[in-house]
Formats: sequence, C-alpha cells, structure tokens
Amino acid sequence: MPKILPSGKLPSYKTPTHFETMYYNDHTAIYLNGSIVKAAEAKTDFFGQTLHYGYGVFEGIRSYRTASGETKIFKELAHFERLRNSAKALNMPFTWDLATLIEATYEVLRINELQDAYIRPVVYAPANMSFNPNKESFIVIETWQMQPFLGEKLLKVMTSSFERPNPRGFRIEAKATGHYVNSILASQEAKSKGFDEALLNDLNGYVAEGPGANIFVERQGVLYTPKAGNILPGITRATVMELCREQDITFEETQLKTADLLGADSAFFCGTAAEVIGMESLDTVPFKKKWSDSLGSRIQAAYKDLVIEKALKTTEITT
Ligand code: PMP
Repeated sequence: MPKILPSGKLPSYKTPTHFETMYYNDHTAIYLNGSIVKAAEAKTDFFGQTLHYGYGVFEGIRSYRTASGETKIFKELAHFERLRNSAKALNMPFTWDLATLIEATYEVLRINELQDAYIRPVVYAPANMSFNPNKESFIVIETWQMQPFLGEKLLKVMTSSFERPNPRGFRIEAKATGHYVNSILASQEAKSKGFDEALLNDLNGYVAEGPGANIFVERQGVLYTPKAGNILPGITRATVMELCREQDITFEETQLKTADLLGADSAFFCGTAAEVIGMESLDTVPFKKKWSDSLGSRIQAAYKDLVIEKALKTTEITT
C-alpha cells in the first residue's frame, strides 16, 4: 500500500542522493527542450509513449580532444541529420534547428568540462498511451566521459541466434530506441556464452551487423561489408569507405554469408562508440592475419588520426 500522509496527500518523490553514476552527478548539465538544466533535477514523463512502447529516436555521437587541444564533435552534422531523418521515419515531429542543437551540445560539453565524450541526444514522445501520432516531440541531449580510443583488444565474436529486425516491420534505417531490445538480447546472449560480442544475420540469413556496429571483412586484399537495406548504415561505415578511397583499399558492399567470414583474413566492427575494433575470431574460428598486418589495422590507425584531426592532408598544409 502506498504511504499516505496524515493530510491525506501522497508523499512527493524524493530525489535519491546517490547520483554518482558513471553518467552523471549532481553537477552534470543536460540540454532539455531549449534549456540547459541539471541532470539530477530534470524530469520526464512516466506516461510517455517512448518509455512504454520504445517509440523514440536517438543518436550516438562522440567528441574528441583534437591534436590542437580543441573539443571537436566528430561528424556532428551527419549525426544530427540522421536524428532528424530517424524522427521523420517514425512520424515524430522534429522542429529543431540543427545548428542550434549542435551549438547547445558544445555548450553542454563546455559546462560539463568534457572533451573525450559520448553524446546522446534522444527525441521522445509526450504522454500518450494510444498509437496515434503526436503534435510535438521533446529532446534531451546528454553527455558523459568516454575513455579514449579502445586500442587493439581483439574481439571474440559469435553468430547470434537473434536476427536483426525485419525491415518490413521496422524502419531499420532509423536509429529508434525500440530496435535496441534486439541489440541487448543479442549482446547479452553472446556475453553469457563467453564471447565479447554478437554478430547478427538479417531475415534472409545474410550477415547484417553487430548490436551497435557495422562489420567489414578482409578477403584477399579486399574489404567487404554488408550492403544497405537490412542494416543501420553507420556514419563510421561511411567514414571507413572514405578512408579506403584515400588509402587505395578496394572495398565492396555486398551480401555475405557467415561461411564467407569464417577463416577470412581479418574482420572488424566499426561504429561511433566502438570506433574501429578488430576481431580475433568468429564462432571460435580465428581470422588468419595478425591484426597488425590487416587492412583493418591500417583503417584503425587512419580513423584514430582523423577523429583527433591529427593527420592534416598535404593540401591543407601547403595551401
Ligand atoms: N549498427 C547499429 C545497430 C548501431 O547501433 C550502430 C551505432 N549507431 C552502428 C551500426 C554504427 O553506426 P555509427 O557508425 O553511425 O555509429
């Protein structure tokens, strides 16, 4: 039974004092619907459609302390554009100006004294228990400390018993909150079986992606990656392709079966959080090449330089 005060009123909810999580403390700022406020004092709605039905969209973005000491959000416009496109794909109103959101994100990073950070904007729906569309959406932008580059720890990956969501049942190209139930199930299954991460197939049995990252595989000097359609086509995936062009590495977007990956030369996951991270094995079958000799290792080094704006192109230096 809920405790009712002698006055007949319900007690007000007391904010827990132990707010020292890895994500925020009593001083942490967030951007919430046009204002910058304290995370520990901000409120959301328990009657919201996003909480109940997983009907929301979000982004995963990173900022880095660059070689010159500045804070730079990597590919910020591409991420906020994807946020807007994801909202559109789910019929969620999105009225914010992207430049304003980017400016607000830099301000939140500055207040939170963060440079190497993870940035999480979430567009969420109002209180609405029906399935009808809403007239407005809300937005929060959260930031927290991210460890610098993951380095060269290689992953033991397993083919998941879970498939990625059917693109005829979901807007698979959107980064929607509800899709991540699938990611959580796959990742938890892999970890419970002693692996580091899962690799999911699509509904047709072709290799799709990891729970939160895209995949590339190296075979005889060429990098292959699943083509768009049944995956979230990542911004890091696009960056890897740009780096391949710069480095004269041949790549192909294609359909791959697990058998094409087993015993291949090398493979890696790529994503904003994962960055570029090599695999040791898939389903306990090791990749043939030493990671340091792989194409992925070259891409990993180039990606690391790119995000901290280390390697200025010759043209940029001379002109
Ligand atoms: N696939 C899924 C399912 C993801 O969650 C992510 C992370 N956003 C990616 C791929 C990689 O996308 P990005 O490179 O844009 O972070």
